[in-house]
Amino acid sequence: MTAARRLGDLRVANSFAGLPEDFYTRLATRPLKAPRVLHANSAAAELIGLDPEAFAHPEFLEVVSGTSPLRGGQTLAAVYSGHQFGVWAGQLGDGRAHLLGEVLGPTGAWELQLKGGGMTPYSRMGDGRAVLRSSVREYLASEAMHGLGIPTTRALALVSADDPVIRETVETAAVVTRMAPSFVRFGSFEHWAANRRPDHLRTLADYVIDRFYPECRGASGAQRPSRPNGGSGPEGYRGTEGAIPVPGLVSGDPYVNLLQAVTERTAELMAAWQVVGFCHGVMNTDNMSILGLTLDYGPYGFMDGFDARHICNHTDVNGRYAWHAQPSVAQWNLLRLASSLRALVADDDALRAALGRFEPVLLDGMQRRMMAKLGFADWRAGDEQLVDDLWRLMHEHHADFTLTFRQLAHAPGLTNAAPERVLEDLGGTVGPTLTPFIDLFTDRDAAGAWLTRYRERILAEGRPWQERIDGMLAVNPLYVLRNYLAQQAIDAAKSGDVSEIDRLMQLLAHPCKAQPGMERYAAQPPAWANGIEVSCSS
Ligand code: AMP
Ligand code: MG
Repeated sequence: MTAARRLGDLRVANSFAGLPEDFYTRLATRPLKAPRVLHANSAAAELIGLDPEAFAHPEFLEVVSGTSPLRGGQTLAAVYSGHQFGVWAGQLGDGRAHLLGEVLGPTGAWELQLKGGGMTPYSRMGDGRAVLRSSVREYLASEAMHGLGIPTTRALALVSADDPVIRETVETAAVVTRMAPSFVRFGSFEHWAANRRPDHLRTLADYVIDRFYPECRGASGAQRPSRPNGGSGPEGYRGTEGAIPVPGLVSGDPYVNLLQAVTERTAELMAAWQVVGFCHGVMNTDNMSILGLTLDYGPYGFMDGFDARHICNHTDVNGRYAWHAQPSVAQWNLLRLASSLRALVADDDALRAALGRFEPVLLDGMQRRMMAKLGFADWRAGDEQLVDDLWRLMHEHHADFTLTFRQLAHAPGLTNAAPERVLEDLGGTVGPTLTPFIDLFTDRDAAGAWLTRYRERILAEGRPWQERIDGMLAVNPLYVLRNYLAQQAIDAAKSGDVSEIDRLMQLLAHPCKAQPGMERYAAQPPAWANGIEVSCSS
């Protein structure tokens, strides 16, 4: 299949628009003043079979800025409800998102959605717009997550415009074109349960099962559903994916199986977030993807210095969505999804059993990832304690999350590489190397004592050194989208300079691969980074 040279040449379907009219409102986007494409993403284009040459065609700008509809698409905003900060919020919906249609590309069907394309019937008090600041953050984060091998919505294009948008200050408008196999959320299910429409609830569940979880219809022992498009990345993560001992779907009831499948994907997603120090910031049920994708990037953050209680959203005063709380919040959200499904499933015990898959999958997912991160070939007695102690040490001494794991591969007495090779692994060829493992901790002696235990553990296993080191470097990122890096890209983009966005897109697509001359992007943040505050206002 050759790539389409124009957006209008893509094959477009509208499966979501085929659902009953109650599910959405058909409407048009509202054009912006002087929109321009700030950046477009070739990797995302490839997924939908679009030649990057198409980016320069006027039709591309027209569609991704919300000036014209997608040819063959039916523009709509979807309705959903949700629990926000633990409280039932009633009806919400796409307040500033427009679904354009679904492209049938070489890697399956991808829905294209604009974020910031104007008001909808679900805008409530909002203006239907998104500002450049938050749009750059979403654009970069979704690609950074994909680069890390974490399931996520993708981003095709970033548009900026001159229209003023009022937030805490006056900012300017922007639009991100997002892509996902589906944007259905837990809140989409809660909506029909709360409105006492079991007919619509069943229609939605059937739609999701038929398109994404067909195995749920099978008899017991059916295959576990495969991942949605999007989760590939560093070999270490992908490579271990097949190793999870997950029993098949056990229920004869497809809706119970659906809950189990979503539970498992969500638990895997939580494990993936936790081990890279990612905080979502607003894990309301309306921001939880039914496909287990990272969805709705707002005040998210990748941690610099580790703090288990880190809260990335400064409006989350009680820390409901702090880093350490994310898995339990996900479980709470799944309970809300299960409650909604009670309208379709009479057997509460079956739903409870499906939810029961959360903990084992989470624990297994964490263990598998920690093994890879620490370079263990197997899991031995005492490893749990060793790993717990590392977390505690990182927390107590605010060690840099990313560099702690990355530098472990180079810890003294555990590397046989020449100093030049180590430097190369750290992204540098000349000049000072990055802070060594032990210096990342305020108490070097405590870090040294832990390192002695770790060294004994490694030596006892006797795994070939280079194999272990290569494995660790393949899963422990050197570059993550630190807040201050995103901020620098935003500041430059405000004056029309997209070079930082471009550089980050390239770097973060391969976050584990050291790239010469890029030491600055791997370093600990400068002091001013501590002052950055991120809130829901986007
Ligand atoms: P969020 O916390 O960003 O997921 O948003 C919660 C709800 O508010 C969703 O239904 C959004 O569509 C809506 N929303 C957020 N910002 C705006 C805005 N500027 N205009 C309209 N709706 C918005
Ligand atoms: Mg949302």
